[in-house]
Amino acid sequence: MTQIICSPSKYIQGHGEIRKLGDYCLQLGAKRAFAIVDPYIFSMYKKDILHSFEMNDIPLMMREFKGECSRNQVDEIVLELGLKDAEVILGIGGGKTLDTAKAVSHMADLQVVIVPTVASTDAPCSAISVLYTDEGDFDCYLPLKRNPDMVIADIDIIAKAPARLLVAGMGDALSTYYEARACRQSGAVTHAGGTGTIAAFSLARACLDTLLAEGESALMDVKQGISSSAVEHIVEANIYLSGVGFESGGLAAAHAIHNGLTLHEGCRNVLHGEKVAFATIVQLVLEKASEDEIAQAIAFCKKVGLPVTLKELGITSSEINKLMMVAEASCSQDSPMKNMPFEVQSVDVLEAILATDKRGY
Ligand SMILES: [Zn+2]
Repeated sequence: MTQIICSPSKYIQGHGEIRKLGDYCLQLGAKRAFAIVDPYIFSMYKKDILHSFEMNDIPLMMREFKGECSRNQVDEIVLELGLKDAEVILGIGGGKTLDTAKAVSHMADLQVVIVPTVASTDAPCSAISVLYTDEGDFDCYLPLKRNPDMVIADIDIIAKAPARLLVAGMGDALSTYYEARACRQSGAVTHAGGTGTIAAFSLARACLDTLLAEGESALMDVKQGISSSAVEHIVEANIYLSGVGFESGGLAAAHAIHNGLTLHEGCRNVLHGEKVAFATIVQLVLEKASEDEIAQAIAFCKKVGLPVTLKELGITSSEINKLMMVAEASCSQDSPMKNMPFEVQSVDVLEAILATDKRGY
């Protein structure tokens, strides 16, 4: 079987990186640049960003991100770019801004620089964009020709974002090693298009080790607005280790159960990584993982404030019908549940969800 690992061409993180974006675009050889920027970041850092491009003699056009990461929005920006002759596109902001920039670069065949200003998921490094309808409903996953040319994380900006977002990123990152391990056992084909490599598996392991060692102190630091070395390590774990780890290590039950949970109206205000954290414990229960491993995952979630019970997810455990719908959806045909090393039925998932809930108290 072919083994494949993919990643962004360059990953950069540091303090004050937002003021060096022009230098990095110069390294890419771009003569004109176009940036899609979150409104909040636009209001706070517009001058810094513009100055950095002026210093490098690169004309920069900026557009505030509004609306959805939808086909219509992407088409509209591609059209605008064609008129302006840009050679590199930047996405600066949260998930939808970044996914829009990635999708535009894919459609317009341009280099793309991704600047995540929160570390709430492991999506920035991947060659996938999630598209929504103009109304905000899930549309599809758009597989991209390649991973971003650069991913640049400014620790100071990320450390100032609400702590809940960094914690959600830890929840998304918590699943990476366990899902990669399941894929390794089953020989599943990952998003990268082949089976896993030693490299991707090692990154997934390093991701888990970093979370367990420094997750709690990173949380305490961001609550006080300090961008410490623990915060740096957690940003790297959430964005890079988990990003390459999930894409080239593979997804399994945790993300399958997360996808099922998105259908439950109780979880509407629960973040992606928060649902993934709970679903990770469900995967460990399904796998009959060792008592130590399950207890370690639950203890970690409790320490950083990730949900470990259905109630914390906004679900009343008495709603068995709705939970069965979640379990069935997690076992649907194209679900990553198929990557588990053993057959999983929806009734097994339901039982594991209920058992996880009990352990959470
Ligand atoms: Zn995820």
